[in-house]
Amino acid sequence: MILINGKETAEKIRQEIKAEVAGFLDTYDAAPHLAAILVGDDPASDTYVSHKEKDCKSVGITSSIYRLSTKITEKELLNTVDFINSDDDIHGMIVQLPLPEHINVDRVISHINPKKDVDGFHPVNVGKMALGYPTYLPATPYGIMELLKRYKIETAGKHCVVIGRSNIVGTPMSILLSRKSNPGNATVTICHSHTQNLKDIAATADILIAAIGKPEFVTADMVKKGAVIIDVGIHRIPSDKTKTGFRLIGDVKFDEVSKVASAITPVPGGVGPMTRVALLLNTLTAFKNSRSLI
Ligand code: NAD
Repeated sequence: MILINGKETAEKIRQEIKAEVAGFLDTYDAAPHLAAILVGDDPASDTYVSHKEKDCKSVGITSSIYRLSTKITEKELLNTVDFINSDDDIHGMIVQLPLPEHINVDRVISHINPKKDVDGFHPVNVGKMALGYPTYLPATPYGIMELLKRYKIETAGKHCVVIGRSNIVGTPMSILLSRKSNPGNATVTICHSHTQNLKDIAATADILIAAIGKPEFVTADMVKKGAVIIDVGIHRIPSDKTKTGFRLIGDVKFDEVSKVASAITPVPGGVGPMTRVALLLNTLTAFKNSRSLI
């Protein structure tokens, strides 16, 4: 059984990005710049944005955080997006989700200049992804595609079952795997809350991607012998064995499924670090786009 090490792979990619950024500084005296808009004081969002800032710093990417009050109006938020859109020294922008309920998320995302939309959520970029044009890919599916590529996991002609159809994970994942590309060229089934016989369908998968948001949902009886398992879920559960008092588990019951699978991502240390590094890859691409380098 191969343990698909996302932590190690992400670190390798981080070093590659760092070298490219150093090259840009030498050649252009400029580095990629990512701006993050954070609305309100949700602790989880705050942590995510801090991680993004730290990740940028670790590779030499400049980052700026625009912290806005939870009481901000939609118009004021759109003005901030406009401000970043028009700043040529900022190459990529993210708006940390969720936003307060009085703000229309779709309107805000659609307001981002697609060229700066390094989350890959803008409808123009989602459309490009579906058509197979070069574009920014949503971070989690992008990270998973990189893992499949770097671990040389064959996807062509394989049956991939994706459990979950969210706009940020399940749906883009299913599109990317079915595209005429490598990785890709797979036969994809997408399962969701209305799927019947989910267990039976999962058990036919050569590659099973669990992005359902339910702790240890995937058990050994749902997995074909020799399948590749990608666990996207992250859940914090209480533990008396760790200093922090909690530990992380995924959507897959790792202990039993790892005995059946040919390869599996652990939680933590699997998809999570790849998601983080994928945002840096997109920011690098945004910088290159701004200088017509690609
Ligand atoms: P989501 O809640 O938006 O989507 C979950 C999907 O699962 C939905 O499409 C729903 O239809 C489906 N679903 C729910 N219950 C089901 C059931 N009983 N049977 C079949 N399908 C069912 O979640 P998300 O944003 O896609 O995230 C999924 C998980 O991945 C969460 O645990 C989240 O924390 C985690 N996540 C991890 C990363 C990472 O970097 N590792 C990134 C994003 C999300």
